Amino acid sequence: MTNQSEILPRPHCAELDEILGVTFPVLDDGFVRVIDYMGTDSSIVQAARVSYGAGTKKVSEDRGLIRYLLRHRHTTPFEMCELKLHVRVPMDCWRQWIRHRTASVNEYSTRYSVAIDAARSTAPDEWRAQSEINKQGSGVGVDPAIGTRLSAEEAELHQRCKDVYQGRLEQGVAREQARKDLPLGTYTEAYWKIDLHNLLHFLSLRMDEHAQYEIREYARLIGEKIVSKWVPHTWEAFLDYRFNSLYLSDAETQFVALLAQGKDDGARQLAFEIGWLTEKGGEVRLSREAREFKGKLGKFGLTAPW
Ligand SMILES: Cc1cc2nc3c(=O)[nH]c(=O)nc-3n(C[C@H](O)[C@H](O)[C@H](O)COP(=O)(O)OP(=O)(O)OC[C@H]3O[C@@H](n4cnc5c(N)ncnc54)[C@H](O)[C@@H]3O)c2cc1C
Repeated sequence: MTNQSEILPRPHCAELDEILGVTFPVLDDGFVRVIDYMGTDSSIVQAARVSYGAGTKKVSEDRGLIRYLLRHRHTTPFEMCELKLHVRVPMDCWRQWIRHRTASVNEYSTRYSVAIDAARSTAPDEWRAQSEINKQGSGVGVDPAIGTRLSAEEAELHQRCKDVYQGRLEQGVAREQARKDLPLGTYTEAYWKIDLHNLLHFLSLRMDEHAQYEIREYARLIGEKIVSKWVPHTWEAFLDYRFNSLYLSDAETQFVALLAQGKDDGARQLAFEIGWLTEKGGEVRLSREAREFKGKLGKFGLTAPW
């Protein structure tokens, strides 16, 4: 029987302890730093085994169990670990970040305090054209000559907004009202605490190429510089089974099977049957799902017969 009064050492991660409070820069003036954490890979294993006997299993067995848990979408063992970050983020990016409801947040108040005197500025070679294939994405870089003008305009606009804000404060306007015309790129700061399960969800969405570049920079840093050190087995399993894995629907699995057997005609017929391909006036049209599937097929070295 387990001795319930056994004194337990606090689980800690030496690699994460080394970077507690260290500021990792992001974008031109943002940062992420770890304030605190709870648990390690071993806490996940411990919770899964509901055991107090740390060290009774080999590290390789811990790794295997973590991989099993993540592969089979177990969630609560990963909720046993928590991470508290201090982040400095432009508000447009923060607006996306704060949509993740499963974190505990305290944000810098521009009602109590004067707004942070920094807004995200864009270098001439950082301007991105509207994507031609994705309505909410970016495409190629903007011509550098145009970029230079855009960056100069941005600097002028930021200065003007700052002057108007300062002027309002000097006239005695309340901070909560004076702030309303500050640029959306103004930096804000927050303490952000989240459990590992929900952090992995955040990372899977925000490290993805479909996420906006700015928030992707934060997510990649949190993943690669922090989570990878903190819970290395979980990070490895996350990359393997979540982030770099490929999800195939029932229909997609059937397509892969047909194409792997060289049955291109069968695949084309199936695509018409399920509405992925339609014909209008002699022209064959592809659904969005059919176009997305092309990208997945590339990973198998296969090409779509349409
Ligand atoms: C590339 C991209 C584009 C986006 N575009 C848009 C857009 O155009 N417009 C827009 O409004 N949003 C957009 N979003 C935001 C998106 O719709 C989600 O709101 C955001 O990503 C948070 O995801 P989440 O709810 O899964 O995460 P979290 O809020 O972190 O929640 C994690 C999980 O907890 C569970 N959960 C949390 N709260 C509840 C609840 N109240 N009820 C039930 N289950 C809950 C859910 O399973 C959820 O997946 C976009 C996100 C991405 C990544």
